[in-house]
Amino acid sequence: MKLAKLTTVLLTITLCLFCNIVCATATPAELTEIRGLIQQMIDVNNSYIRKFTKKVSTDSLKNQTPNTTAVLCSDSRVDTEAINDDPVGNLFVIRNIGNQVDTAYGSVEYGVYHLHTNILLVVGHSQCGAIKAAMSDYSAESKRIRAELDSLEVDKSISLNANIVHNINHQVSLAVDDFEDKVNSGEVVIIGLVYDLHNDYKMGSGQLIIVNINNETDPKILATSKYLTGLNNVKLLQQSDYKSL
Ligand SMILES: [Zn+2]
Repeated sequence: MKLAKLTTVLLTITLCLFCNIVCATATPAELTEIRGLIQQMIDVNNSYIRKFTKKVSTDSLKNQTPNTTAVLCSDSRVDTEAINDDPVGNLFVIRNIGNQVDTAYGSVEYGVYHLHTNILLVVGHSQCGAIKAAMSDYSAESKRIRAELDSLEVDKSISLNANIVHNINHQVSLAVDDFEDKVNSGEVVIIGLVYDLHNDYKMGSGQLIIVNINNETDPKILATSKYLTGLNNVKLLQQSDYKSL
């Protein structure tokens, strides 16, 4: 089957499925809301197209050469511009609930092995719903949600703020194991950070706090890390033992 015909068939099936799912079950108010959101998307895109050629250079469309691979939580409050003010073309982003490396190895390895980023970030955030869920009884969740929550590491005897760091450290340790040779050679550095939207860690709302570099978590040792030498405004946890947070 020719590609155009196959595309038409797939599109038709998708539209039929969409109609069956939405038209059969949505209330008029829900349909109005959905249509409004689709219209909003179309309008945003039309507006975007007008500035597209200014925003994205032709050269940057030929190949992507990001400088950083970043694993972030899917939480809609987490803004990639908090870590990079020009993320298009520079940030290779993997997002999921609870910033898991564990279930995203393929994407993470693509960033490191094929796009050759020298920095891999694992970014957790304050008030993370996935961490809260992992600390509670989630047995009623779907099989696939349970599988992702299972891949988070939490300790129910410590606080939410501590568990957010605890999970970041776990995901960083998985990445360090996976990229052991590149980490040991210095080709890749893996950095764990908390993005504190709520000032829960008392260094200001929106603050990025470095909690881990290549499995090192002691702030006193991190402060002397060769990766941070000479840098300004570096924020590290105040507590040597994050579990006391
Ligand atoms: Zn989250």
